[in-house]
Amino acid sequence: VDADTPFSQLMKELTKTVKQPSDGMSVVYWMRMCDLRLRDNKALSRASAQAQKHDIPLIVLFIISPQDYIAHDRSARRIDFVLRNLAILKGSFSELHIPFHVVVHTPRKTIPKFVLSFCEEHGVKTLFTNMEYEVDELRRDIEICKLAFPKGIRIEVMHDKCIVEPGVVVTKQEKAYAVYSPYQRNWMATLNGNLSHFLEDCPLPVANDSSVRLLESLGPLFNSQIPETVAGFELTDEDKAKMKEIWPAGETPAAHVLQRFLTTKKRSSQLGGVDPLASGSTICPKFNRIAKYGNERDRIDSDTTSRLSAYLTSGIISVRQCARASMLLMNSKKVESDKASGIGRWLQEIAWRDFYVNIVAFFPRVSMGRPYLEKFSQVVWENHQASSDSGIGRAGNDDDDVETLKRWKTGMTGVPIVDASMRCLNEMGWMHNRARMITAMYLTKDLMIDWRVGERYFMEMLIDGDLSSNNGGWQWSASTGVDPCPYFRIFNPYTQSLKVDPTGDFIRHWIPELRKVRGPDLHNPSAALADKLGYPLPIIAHNEARERALRRYKNPGEQ
Ligand code: FAD
Repeated sequence: VDADTPFSQLMKELTKTVKQPSDGMSVVYWMRMCDLRLRDNKALSRASAQAQKHDIPLIVLFIISPQDYIAHDRSARRIDFVLRNLAILKGSFSELHIPFHVVVHTPRKTIPKFVLSFCEEHGVKTLFTNMEYEVDELRRDIEICKLAFPKGIRIEVMHDKCIVEPGVVVTKQEKAYAVYSPYQRNWMATLNGNLSHFLEDCPLPVANDSSVRLLESLGPLFNSQIPETVAGFELTDEDKAKMKEIWPAGETPAAHVLQRFLTTKKRSSQLGGVDPLASGSTICPKFNRIAKYGNERDRIDSDTTSRLSAYLTSGIISVRQCARASMLLMNSKKVESDKASGIGRWLQEIAWRDFYVNIVAFFPRVSMGRPYLEKFSQVVWENHQASSDSGIGRAGNDDDDVETLKRWKTGMTGVPIVDASMRCLNEMGWMHNRARMITAMYLTKDLMIDWRVGERYFMEMLIDGDLSSNNGGWQWSASTGVDPCPYFRIFNPYTQSLKVDPTGDFIRHWIPELRKVRGPDLHNPSAALADKLGYPLPIIAHNEARERALRRYKNPGEQ
């Protein structure tokens, strides 16, 4: 694929890196916030092997960059999750005598120079890291490569985030796919064609005796403190405690969440959202939850999906490990065909993740506030016309907080399935995929509020906020993205509600005002009932909103 993107520029830059560096005095693995684990971590594994080979210390560096977190609208919950995981990693690295150096660095534009001087200070001749595919991060790495070359430092940037990295699955014309189905078919064929390569299980890092020998000189690196919080990303004590309970940090809980999804029969209550591990780990290979995923994954009134996204986004579990485990189950003789289809379906969902990373790598404008389908950049939004007129830049500021937007954010739109989902997001930092689609569609089509405002709010609230998946999901729902939902296929939130929450348990759980309501009224309460129960009336009638959306999408630029 020959697009002039920061991704392809970095790939070119990497071919020019120093070919045969000297051994150096130590090796650095620069850990990023998307690869917070020891197990099956490509860059860490390679760095450890290199350190062993030359009998020199391995140093792990982690840079906390608050300015990057602001630029990416990172949620305080995600930052807190990162810090909790760093604290656990510190213990694991210390057992292996590997110094884990954590620093807070600003301004972000000087990170390349800082990294290079760190390497020079410790006599590093090879630096390993896993690739981040966002534009700013790619540009930063290009600069690092350029600075490193004259100093004889080799930069090894590995692909670790995806199963099949960007640029491998391409069309016959060697272009990036902008439609998911052919991408997914090619993705699956590529994967099956070389399973041992794409699903490689990278060895764990080994204890670093050399660093023990050099304890005196490396001493200060062993003593870095993991901050409790990052300025500007503080959580309330209550939220901090809640996140800790719902999303326990560390590789062991992450492995349990996977295990629970693959092998347990019993479903925990998704509704309370507390303790995803609550159902324990009763091993029952003949009847597992993944087997039902094919048919039931869209149900949001029970625990139908893996809930691994928080762990996958921060790289606390490797996506290869998830794929290996599910394929192993698929190949086991005990799995019957309908169950195998559940497993296949889950792999396809994981392929969506790769697909969206591919899109951000090859069409970086989508992550810079632009719609993939440029014709929709002129759609007239209710809240802030300025950003849709210019069609560029991160949308949304406090002025955009029109009353309807506030009601959407707080779960007070008067549409029960939307409100239950938004309250779930605000409470748990997570939402089921269908709930994300329904709320995103409602914001963009019923309320006609710019998708970029919703995209940002999700990033600010989600524990699993990931630029590529979030942007992909929002542009799908707003019909502006690659392979989007066509603009005329507007979800009716009331029919969706009956399909995804047929028991009504989800709505009743998150909306106490409606807890006593049974039957269809729950999904669409009458004005009299809503009034009696103190629940808001809908902001707008769906049919009226639908007509407005159809009109504005059909004729972008017109009211
Ligand atoms: P499962 O159904 O168990 O799927 C397993 C894994 O596959 C997920 O953990 C995820 O890594 C991947 N996956 C599944 N569906 C998708 C999808 N549609 N797109 C990309 N990857 C997928 N996912 C995020 O990880 N971070 C986000 O910030 C994010 N924002 C979204 C915003 C919108 C508007 C929409 C519609 C979707 C978004 N998604 C996002 C995708 C999806 O909703 C979540 O990955 C999923 O709900 C996570 O729950 P799970 O782990 O139980 O998923």
